[in-house]
Amino acid sequence: MSHSPITPIVIIGAGPAGIATAVEAMNRGYKNSEIVLLEKSGEVGHMIQSKYPNEKPVLANYKERMAECIGDMCITDMTKSDFMDYLSTTIKERELNVKFHEQVEKIIKLKNGQFNVITNNEHYLCDAVFVAIGNMASPRTLGVPVAEEVASKIFYDIQDISKEMADVLVVGGGDSAGEYAKILCERGHKVTLSYRGGEFNRMIDQNRDNTLKLIKEEKIIFLPSSHIKEIQNTKGLPLVSFAEGDYKPRPFHAIVTALGTERPTKYLSAIGIETIIEGEDIFSESKMEGLFFVGDLASGKRGGSINFAFNSGVKAIGKACSLYLDCDL
Ligand SMILES: Cc1cc2nc3c(=O)[nH]c(=O)nc-3n(C[C@H](O)[C@H](O)[C@H](O)COP(=O)(O)OP(=O)(O)OC[C@H]3O[C@@H](n4cnc5c(N)ncnc54)[C@H](O)[C@@H]3O)c2cc1C
Repeated sequence: MSHSPITPIVIIGAGPAGIATAVEAMNRGYKNSEIVLLEKSGEVGHMIQSKYPNEKPVLANYKERMAECIGDMCITDMTKSDFMDYLSTTIKERELNVKFHEQVEKIIKLKNGQFNVITNNEHYLCDAVFVAIGNMASPRTLGVPVAEEVASKIFYDIQDISKEMADVLVVGGGDSAGEYAKILCERGHKVTLSYRGGEFNRMIDQNRDNTLKLIKEEKIIFLPSSHIKEIQNTKGLPLVSFAEGDYKPRPFHAIVTALGTERPTKYLSAIGIETIIEGEDIFSESKMEGLFFVGDLASGKRGGSINFAFNSGVKAIGKACSLYLDCDL
């Protein structure tokens, strides 16, 4: 392990929030050589590349978060592939220093106010840390008893659903659930949607309209106000029982849950970050002054969006400039 020279800004995670944070730091006078992005995977925007179905449009207004951008980075509705190009082009044009396959093992606040960020590869001494790792490493689970033999038939995203899994249960009532159900229908699966609510109040209009249309056309079997009670094994398939007697137990080839995510508190705690302070703004600062949470990590219960993540990076750099960094503007 080598000892790096001082890198004033360390950003953990090279998704939308991390990249926008780096771009804004450069706009405020930092050179690309003074900023490092640590990305655990081998690509930028890895969550989006791996979790968004290829045919899914990337929507500018998402989760009731309107696309009002305050910094350089901003999207309008586009395809997934155009969005990935947008991220790669930004990295290229700004010559951002992304260290792939690098994971933080410990963050230590030093007496002089700086941080020592220790990874599997390096030590970075820095003035501010921005944690932009998203929430997707911790998807919310069903929280019901599941027979061990069929646990492998429960998925968190539809990239894992093969053609052979003809009969699929989607669980959830938010945007992801609606999008998953629609795409699975289009791919030719028989789709059942189980939602504990009766109306899709949490979806943006476009997803709600699409979902209701497919239900009306009987392309999605909708189980409103349904609560999964248990998942048993029937001949190697998950047999789903519901708390409501009206819904008889039924088998599926696969179950996809779209129940949102939890904060990765275990990981954060393991690397030395104890608490996320809920800010009133679109980013938050930890108890360790100078360490910020941006993007989905700061988005609270409402959930985040890409433009929210971009804005979050801009605001967090603004605060860091006023307190800990030596910015031009
Ligand atoms: C299925 C789905 C569909 C969506 N559709 C839309 C949409 O149409 N429009 C929209 O605006 N929003 C959409 N969203 C939400 C949007 O993708 C997120 O709000 C946004 O990506 C958050 O950006 P982020 O940078 O905070 O986190 P992420 O995009 O999750 O990026 C985090 C980055 O950090 C990396 N990372 C994770 N852990 C570590 C670690 N320990 N160390 C280093 N790096 C790490 C990841 O590999 C990733 O590159 C969707 C989300 C999902 C799941």
